[in-house]
Amino acid sequence: MRLSPPRMRHPVAAGRRLTGLLMLAAFALVVVLVTIFILTAINRIADYANRLDDDRSRQTTAGALGTFESQLRATLNDYAAWDDAAQFVYAPDGEAWVKSNYGEMTVNSDLFDVAMVMDARRQVVMSYQDGQPAGWDPHDYFDASLWTLFDKAASAAAGSSPEATGFVRTTKGVAVVGVALVRQKSGDLDKPNDERRFLVFARHLVAAQVAKMGQTYVVEGLQFTSNDAGSPNKVEIRNVHGKLLATLGWRSRLPGNLGYHQVKPLVYCALAMVGLFFLLLLVSGSNTLNRLKDDEAAARRLAMSDRLSGLLNRAGFFAALDELVAEGRQRELHVLLLYLDLDGFKEVNDAYGHATGDQLIRGVAAGLKALVTADSVLARVGGDEFAVALLSFDAQQTAETLSDRILGFFDEPFVIGERVATIGTSIGIAISPRGSVAGEELVRRADMAMYRAKETGRGRADYYRPEMDAEREDRNRLEIDLRIAIERRELHVVYQPVVDAEGWGLIGVEALARWTRKGYGPVPPEVFIPIAESTGLIDQLGLFVLHRACDTLRHWPGLKLAVNVSPGQFRDPAFATHVGSVFRKTDTDPSRITLEMTEGYFIQNPDRARMAITMLRQLGVKIALDDFGAGFSSVGYLRQFGFDRMKIDKSLVNALDEGGRAVDLLQATVALARSLCIPVTAEGVESQDQAIQLRLTGCDELQGYFFGKPMLAEEIDAMYRGGRRNSN
Ligand code: C2E
Ligand code: CA
Ligand code: CA
Repeated sequence: MRLSPPRMRHPVAAGRRLTGLLMLAAFALVVVLVTIFILTAINRIADYANRLDDDRSRQTTAGALGTFESQLRATLNDYAAWDDAAQFVYAPDGEAWVKSNYGEMTVNSDLFDVAMVMDARRQVVMSYQDGQPAGWDPHDYFDASLWTLFDKAASAAAGSSPEATGFVRTTKGVAVVGVALVRQKSGDLDKPNDERRFLVFARHLVAAQVAKMGQTYVVEGLQFTSNDAGSPNKVEIRNVHGKLLATLGWRSRLPGNLGYHQVKPLVYCALAMVGLFFLLLLVSGSNTLNRLKDDEAAARRLAMSDRLSGLLNRAGFFAALDELVAEGRQRELHVLLLYLDLDGFKEVNDAYGHATGDQLIRGVAAGLKALVTADSVLARVGGDEFAVALLSFDAQQTAETLSDRILGFFDEPFVIGERVATIGTSIGIAISPRGSVAGEELVRRADMAMYRAKETGRGRADYYRPEMDAEREDRNRLEIDLRIAIERRELHVVYQPVVDAEGWGLIGVEALARWTRKGYGPVPPEVFIPIAESTGLIDQLGLFVLHRACDTLRHWPGLKLAVNVSPGQFRDPAFATHVGSVFRKTDTDPSRITLEMTEGYFIQNPDRARMAITMLRQLGVKIALDDFGAGFSSVGYLRQFGFDRMKIDKSLVNALDEGGRAVDLLQATVALARSLCIPVTAEGVESQDQAIQLRLTGCDELQGYFFGKPMLAEEIDAMYRGGRRNSN
């Protein structure tokens, strides 16, 4: 049995997993993107900081070189524009002064390590290096840019200072070199141009110097580098000709990187925290979502199941059946549907109460569950209606076996506590070959077959046949027409004579309903009475016949009247009241009226029947048991309910002609009734022989075609008057 078909659950779970994954993926993407953005931003800041620092180092280094040059320029100015120098350099005996004041100053000096005095024709007057007379020729020792500086200083215009400095390559290395005219401090010099003398200072830039410079100006790792190194961290030293002499380079301190590395863990931490926060949000959100979905699924399951039986309910059944049909179509299997309606459940419910009825339903559900296969769909689709649907290769065979088993199950009475209830079921079977018939239509067909099973005797199974549609359609139209006819009072009543068994004199009539359907003609009571009973129209119809017959009875003061009452009419608690009001309205003496009832109701609902009979008796009417011998007639009922009369069914009467056992049975029955002081009417008397035999058996009243068919009131009228005339 499939309470909650697993197929219904899979798509939900898969969908949920998918949305969960998608959300997680989107979330991860966002986290990754945010991380990339932030790290890129920090990286840019770091780069920028690095570049700024390198720019500063470059400027500082260039500035340091400038300072290096301007220090020499200041020193040169001090030594060249000096009154003593102007005197001794030009004096013929000034050699000693020049040596001690210029040459020997080159030793261990931070200011200059080369000193030269030259005349206007670039002839060396004195040259010293590191405190010693230099052994070289300046043309070899310095590069050619020295002479450019020399010319600059020599050709300085009046008013501008006759000095020039610049970096120059020497055989020792790179040096800043200055050339200045030796003159008085005031700048005056009373010498012609060709007698002028020039002071040349050189200060070498050595590795130690550069390193010290780096320390002083905080340029890390400042040193000479080869120019072809790709690093952008360099400052070039060129002579006045623009020729590259040397390159200073340094190590980037990369303060940005430093900051970056310091900040990075913090950033990662922050990102991780944000990520964690959103992850928690996501998880709790999706948990809530899942819970909502679970609640929804549970609610749906609940909405699909029947609380009393635990089976699927009608809605659940239709959903499951649709899936089954789809599966049948897919797998080329037939869908078999058995539609069950319990017979006699209402009566058990009415008699024993709802608690017992509920237990009975549970018992039926449990029994069916045990009978069907595990993959069948089993449902309670109505108060006392059940349905079984399943897939099958051989639907016909399966249907036969299953319906036999189910009918067999209902053969046994149900024991509920101390009570025993016997109920049956009528089964309608419909098949959807390879799922070609949709669920709803399949149910309609099975339902129709079930009605047919009920109509044709209950406790059996019937297959759907296409003719049923037309028949059902006819029946529906008939029902509509009957309803209209009853409302418009188009039915009429005929009366069948009832005679005294001794003298065959008319003593009463049985009222029988007749319906001439417009456009069709007469419809037999065997057809329209069951329809009226099953649709509830019988209440109106029955009272109409009673009313009309009572009205008519006024014309026949000497006659009794028998009126038929269907079991269904007893279900109306106000039935006795209605009957009483008919008597009042028609001014009828109730003692002249006999209500005829069949035994069916007494079997199914003895308590209720007894109550109804008691109430009717209080009105003063008599009650007859109709059709005795047609069904499961039991003399026990006669005794139990104290009927006023018994009517022997025409089938029993007809059997008289065959003689033998039938006669014995009839005689025994009548004898028994008489022993209980219950008078007996024989109906369906068609011959004189029968009439005589029945009288001899002990029947006191006779009824049948032999005495008169059911006829119009006018005909009874004539008969009645004729009879009176005869007896008079
Ligand atoms: P029933 O109550 O047993 O009525 C007697 C039936 O036997 C009537 O059929 C009558 O025409 C028929 N009958 C009478 N004498 C003979 C005879 O000698 N031979 C044969 N073969 N039949 C004979 P009808 O009128 O067709 O009624 C059929 C059934 O319909 C009735 O059976 C009764 O159960 C039901 N019915 C008729 N009118 C009413 C009504 O107003 N109310 C209710 N509740 N049921 C009614
Ligand atoms: Ca009758
Ligand atoms: Ca009868």
